[in-house]
Amino acid sequence: MKLRGVLVSHRNRQRERLLEHLDVMVGTVVECYRTCGKPGCACQQGKKHGPYYMLTWSEGGRTRTRHIPRHKLEEVKRMTRNYQVAREALRKLGEFNRRLVLEEQ
Ligand SMILES: [Zn+2]
Repeated sequence: MKLRGVLVSHRNRQRERLLEHLDVMVGTVVECYRTCGKPGCACQQGKKHGPYYMLTWSEGGRTRTRHIPRHKLEEVKRMTRNYQVAREALRKLGEFNRRLVLEEQ
């Protein structure tokens, strides 16, 4: 196969990858543990409560966070992973298109 054909098939694969991962959510899932205020609670001896899960993201130069209910954790994880995959696919797609349009005759 000619280089152009190889580039077209790579480009098409990235298009498909992008389409398969469009269900995105921006942010990072963070696991946290906490201490409470109850006197004598085991958390004050290092046995902290948790894990709790938070989504953190950046918005207008500030870091925002929101609690993730346990029953939505897998959905949020899937969507934040999708964002990483889609972003990478989009970057590669742009690169293959540049090579196809400007570097290959
Ligand atoms: Zn406690």
